[in-house]
Amino acid sequence: MMNTVKNLDASVIEVFASQLRGELVMPSDTTYNETRKVYNGMIDKRPGMFAMCVDVADVIASVNFGRDNNLLVAVRGGGHNGGGLGLCDEGLVIDLSGIKFVRVDTSDNTVRVGGGNLWGEVDHATHPFGLAVPAGIISTTGVGGLTLGGGVGHLSRKYGLTIDNLLEADMVLADGSFVTVNENQNTDLFWAIRGGGGNFGIVTSFKFQAHPVKTVIGGPTLWPIEKTEEIMEWYHDFIQNAPDELNGFITACVGGVFFSSSLLLTKLLNSSVSIVLVMRTASFKRSSLESGADISSVINCDVNDCR
Ligand SMILES: Cc1cc2nc3c(=O)[nH]c(=O)nc-3n(C[C@H](O)[C@H](O)[C@H](O)COP(=O)(O)OP(=O)(O)OC[C@H]3O[C@@H](n4cnc5c(N)ncnc54)[C@H](O)[C@@H]3O)c2cc1C
Repeated sequence: MMNTVKNLDASVIEVFASQLRGELVMPSDTTYNETRKVYNGMIDKRPGMFAMCVDVADVIASVNFGRDNNLLVAVRGGGHNGGGLGLCDEGLVIDLSGIKFVRVDTSDNTVRVGGGNLWGEVDHATHPFGLAVPAGIISTTGVGGLTLGGGVGHLSRKYGLTIDNLLEADMVLADGSFVTVNENQNTDLFWAIRGGGGNFGIVTSFKFQAHPVKTVIGGPTLWPIEKTEEIMEWYHDFIQNAPDELNGFITACVGGVFFSSSLLLTKLLNSSVSIVLVMRTASFKRSSLESGADISSVINCDVNDCR
C-alpha cells in the first residue's frame, strides 16, 4: 500500500526541501491552492506536497524521495490533461514548470525545449527564425504531455505528428538514473515514449526537428446547426483534395463551449457548427478555398497572433 505525505516525519521533509533548488509547496503554504490548480477546473485533487523543480537535479532528488518513501507520485508538465493526471491526492507532485528553455539551432533547424515548457513559448522562440515544430492547437498545452501522447495539430498534415519530429529526449527514470534516448541510444525507450505517455520516466528536455513556417492564414467559418450534414459532407470531400499545407477541424459550438465533431451533439443541441481552417501561406492560394464555403471570416495573421 502507498504511503502518504501526512505520515512522514517533519525532519524527513526538511531534508528533502534542503536538497531542492526549487520550492517545496505544502498544504499549509498560502500558495498551495493556487499551485494545485490545473487547466480543467473540475479537478480538485489535494496533493501532499509539490516539488517545484527548476533543474534535472531537483527531478532526480524528487524521484528518489518519492520512491524511498513509497509515495504516490504524479508528474505535471503543462497541467492540461483533462483527467488531471498531473496531480495526485496525498502524494508527491513533481512539477516541471520551472524547467523552461528553448534553444533554436539554425544550422540544422532543430529546437531543444525544457520538459516544463508550454507550446506557446516554443512558437514564440522559433518564430523569429521562420521555424515551427508541429504541435497542438492551443498555446497553453504542455510540451511534455502533448508530445508523449503523440501530438496532433495544424501542421500535422504537412509535417506529421509531434512525435514524428522528436529527435531526442533526456529522461530521469524511476531508479533516479539519467539517460538520453534517440535513434542510437536507448532505442527501446525512445520508441516507448513516442506515444506511450508519461509512463516510462520524466523527460527533462526534448529535441525536435523544426520546419519553415512563418505567416499563416487562419480562422473559423460558422454555419447554423441545421447545415451540419451538408457542411460535413462538403468538408469530407474538400479536405481530401486540399493541399497538405491546409488543416482544418470541425466543432459544434453550444453556448460558447466547443465539442469535437459529433453529428449527434450538433443535432440534439440548437446551436452552430464551425470549421476552423488554418494554412501556411507560402504555397497556398486563398482562392483554392473559396469553391465550397463562405470564408468571409478567414483572417490573415502572423503565427504569433494566432497563439
Ligand atoms: C484545451 C486543450 C486543447 C488540447 N489540444 C490538443 C491538440 O491540439 N493536440 C493534441 O495532440 N492534444 C491536445 N490536447 C491534449 C493534450 O495534449 C494532453 O492533455 C496532454 O497530456 C497535455 O499535456 P500537459 O503537459 O499540459 O499535461 P499534464 O496534465 O501536465 O500532463 C499530462 C500527462 O503527461 C505527463 N507528463 C507531462 N509532462 C511530462 C514530462 N516532461 N515527462 C514525463 N511525463 C510528463 C504527466 O505525468 C501526465 O501523465 C489538448 C488538451 C486541452 C485541455
